[in-house]
Amino acid sequence: MDADIPYLLLTPGPLTTSRTVRETMLRDYCTWDDDYNTIVSDIRDRLVRLATTSENYTAVLMQGSGTFSVEATLGSVIPPDGKLLVVNNGAYGARIVQIAERLGIACREIAQPEVERADLERVEAALRSDTAITHVALVHCETTTGMLNPAGDVGRLAREYEKIFILDAMSSFGGIPLSNDAAADGSGGIESLGAHFLVSSANKCIQGVPGFGFVIAHRATLAQTAGRARSLSLDLFDQWQEMENKAGKWRYTSPTHTVRAFAQALLELEAEGGVAARYARYSENHRRLCQGMERLGFKLLLPPAYRAPIITSFIYPDDLAFAFMPFYEALKLRRFVIYPGKVSTAETFRIGNIGHVFPDDMRLLVEMIAEALEELGVRLVGART
Ligand SMILES: *Cc1c(COP(=O)(O)O)cnc(C)c1O
Repeated sequence: MDADIPYLLLTPGPLTTSRTVRETMLRDYCTWDDDYNTIVSDIRDRLVRLATTSENYTAVLMQGSGTFSVEATLGSVIPPDGKLLVVNNGAYGARIVQIAERLGIACREIAQPEVERADLERVEAALRSDTAITHVALVHCETTTGMLNPAGDVGRLAREYEKIFILDAMSSFGGIPLSNDAAADGSGGIESLGAHFLVSSANKCIQGVPGFGFVIAHRATLAQTAGRARSLSLDLFDQWQEMENKAGKWRYTSPTHTVRAFAQALLELEAEGGVAARYARYSENHRRLCQGMERLGFKLLLPPAYRAPIITSFIYPDDLAFAFMPFYEALKLRRFVIYPGKVSTAETFRIGNIGHVFPDDMRLLVEMIAEALEELGVRLVGART
């Protein structure tokens, strides 16, 4: 852990960034100058290359947090007579439904328990029976629980039924290879997932700071969406046209410092060895965390096969001496900040595996958790001493 930071953020966005990423923000940029716009163009190129080697994709950056880019995509690409099928097995799936409702987009929801993976049979049944559906939306890693949804399988169904596939890969892009048959460097693969629009943001696995999101889009599909946007500022097509035609310019003020930091974060991702290497580090963080916590006697919410190495949900200990806030404060004093749970059916807390965080940090974290529990007088049933 860097000595200059008060604590490590084990929260999946904003997350802990490197000092070198933060340092790039110590200067100001002019948004109509090449100095800045070449950085934007370079970021767009690099994002596409992280997703694919194909020329058929493009990238659009959008101001705001990740949700703004999800809303920009839904509101800009679905035509007035379109209908969206959404798999909802967590808070971010629910948010997609909420956005569709707010924008007046016809929507069919497959509501599932948060501890169950996206149900392919229900997806197929909906696609077969409801021919009004034009678009399908799925959350890749449900950050609510840490669930990894079968994006490739949903993408295959979308393709089979000739639907446009929108993937919220907010908390996975850059940290998890897009597919098993990805390029040799472990990155490629948006076409094998079948996603026409993949949405993510600056402050997740690429390890930048918050301030904008981005959409990797199938160029020909995006090109058909002119004039559809239900919002002026969140018009994905217009933003794309501005960036394409004015060499990296954004419509309206862009988050210059965040953008500069993101360019550095992309270089650091490359220096680490690309998505495959980052995935390996996150997986090792995750493995150490799960192993250490289980040794302390904690139970995990999800079975191993469902877990993504992004964030992990732990069930509260049975001991009534346990309460989240004192536990949180005791860990914060020990320089680790964790996350409350978000599941409606179980009492949980979450620990992020991502960011500028390393296996040794996880080892120390587990030690600090043991110390905090002892201080708070919490005993774990089944704990080994
Ligand atoms: C972080 C995240 C978002 C976006 O959340 P914001 O708070 O708007 O950044 C959307 N979907 C998923 C799965 C996420 O993890």
